[in-house]
Amino acid sequence: MDRERILLTPGPLTTSLRTKLAMLRDWGSWDADFNAVTARVRSQLLDIVGAQASHTVVPLQGSGTFSVEAAVATLVPRDGHVLVLDNGAYCKRAARLTRLMGRRTSVLPFAEVEPVSAAALESALAADASISHVVLIHCETGTGVVNPFVEVAAVCQHHDKSLIVDAMSSFGALPIDAREVRFDALIAASGKCLEGVPGMGFVLIRKAVLDGCAGHSQSLALDLHDQHQYMERTGQWRFTPPTHVVVALAEALDQYIEEGGQPARLARYADNCRTLLGGMAALGFEPLLRPQVQAPIIVTFHAPAAPAYDFKRFYAACKQRGFMLYPGKLTEIETFRVGCIGAIGSNEMRQAVSAVADVLRELGIDSGAPAPLKP
Ligand SMILES: *Cc1c(COP(=O)(O)O)cnc(C)c1O
Repeated sequence: MDRERILLTPGPLTTSLRTKLAMLRDWGSWDADFNAVTARVRSQLLDIVGAQASHTVVPLQGSGTFSVEAAVATLVPRDGHVLVLDNGAYCKRAARLTRLMGRRTSVLPFAEVEPVSAAALESALAADASISHVVLIHCETGTGVVNPFVEVAAVCQHHDKSLIVDAMSSFGALPIDAREVRFDALIAASGKCLEGVPGMGFVLIRKAVLDGCAGHSQSLALDLHDQHQYMERTGQWRFTPPTHVVVALAEALDQYIEEGGQPARLARYADNCRTLLGGMAALGFEPLLRPQVQAPIIVTFHAPAAPAYDFKRFYAACKQRGFMLYPGKLTEIETFRVGCIGAIGSNEMRQAVSAVADVLRELGIDSGAPAPLKP
């Protein structure tokens, strides 16, 4: 059977045939036609969050983490002090890369199943005036929990701190409006909710801030100030661009606009998420998060208690039926994750649930129910 597998993962994810077909041509990196594609993509990315007046966007080669690292290296001066709000794996990654780049780093820890707290941030900023930058992960993809961007931004603005937001798994799906919420940098990538292929990230940077960032970065390849200056001057990428990724993103953005933009994308993902949660609940599975904090991006489920359950076998049997799941990212509890994003709708989610039901039968598991919580 050569039907394409459905990726229920948070990127790379299932892309449309139109997006895949856009990659069948080769482009010269210096060519005016390709530069026009880059310029159009940049402008559309700013439109998505209403940031044309306030921000510029700097694309960067590489996976999303490269852009997180570049944003920190470019925005934070060598003697800056970064506070990372930590409720999961991607927060810990942001703290680690900040520390590795030699910036003073503090971490404000929270439980993984709860959003970070703006009130706790308020106290932390009041207690330590040396903090210059705050790093927030909008949707913590490690669990799927959505963090209070608007409230955190208000606290940062009140204390006059620079806010850097990793909106990798929320950009394009969850509402963000740069005219209403203040941030200095916001990072996302081609291969998540915009439904392009992976290979480039981008950082929206407040125009008034970028000029002062010259010389901050200790890395040449990750210097967004340099990348921006070169791109503004020549229309070209500073080093070899991921040409096929850029044209695929341009095609994906056209489909995004045709679908109805952010509200339509959120509605489809929310429908996917509801279909998934409902179907899995009927099989006995329980999600890790309470519904109020669950983003419709990725769902973490508890592993079934049945002794016959083993993630690798479960994964392989689902894959055989055409659906790729994702391992869990929690250290304490056994879980697995299912993405709700990508060029899929509730039909695919229903088919995925029915594949899971079939797999439970094959593995001799009568319920997806997890072990009861220890008192
Ligand atoms: C996907 C993602 C990243 C980037 O991960 P890469 O593996 O480098 O693409 C960063 N932060 C969040 C929240 C993500 O979901």
